Amino acid sequence: MSGARILIVEDEPALLRGLKDAFVAKGFDVLPAQDGETGLAYALSRNPHLILLDIMLPRVNGYEICRAVRERGLEMPILMLTAKGQEEDIILGLNLGADDYIVKPFRLGELTARVNAFLRRSKSKPAGSFRFGDCELDLDAHKLYRDAAEVELTAKEFKLLAYFVSRRDCALARNDVLDAVWGNSVIVTPRSIDRCVATLRAKIEPDPRNPRYIQTIRDIGYRFEPGVE
Ligand code: CA
Repeated sequence: MSGARILIVEDEPALLRGLKDAFVAKGFDVLPAQDGETGLAYALSRNPHLILLDIMLPRVNGYEICRAVRERGLEMPILMLTAKGQEEDIILGLNLGADDYIVKPFRLGELTARVNAFLRRSKSKPAGSFRFGDCELDLDAHKLYRDAAEVELTAKEFKLLAYFVSRRDCALARNDVLDAVWGNSVIVTPRSIDRCVATLRAKIEPDPRNPRYIQTIRDIGYRFEPGVE
């Protein structure tokens, strides 16, 4: 989405330069930052539409940037750049307010697709209903239609699907899903969410055993990917 301003915080000079050149070539307005201190200052003062954020950074790390940005009430999407095999770090970042992550080394095409999906989403207005594939979720009436026929949802399935829609294209840690959908008051286990996801998949997926919309992210949680809006 050309014209959008993205902040790239990455301390590896070659990667920072490569990303900057690639996004500038696509018409983005790029703010590069090679350390956490500069990154945080840009995040708070230059109003970027999206942040690409490395975690391990000199001076101020990516977690501290996430936390500081969210504490100021800024809601731009934050996409973490992470190393392979850092599930704990990814979950921590998501808990501190990052929206998603991409594992290094990544393909540039995949990264720009994610960036564009986030920018499209933050532009689109909240709607009373949300369409994906052959489904339409009516958020006011709490109803799901598939091929225009109503599909019965339990209260939990509706709440889960509405949460997925509100956080679409984001990596969601299991515990965050539990907190958002089940709340802290009830005793639930990760099995409860897996069961609810399974019954929901049976109702919305073309092939529930090979899901297209509700993706499982191993060791982390789920990502709802409704496709192009
Ligand atoms: Ca780094």
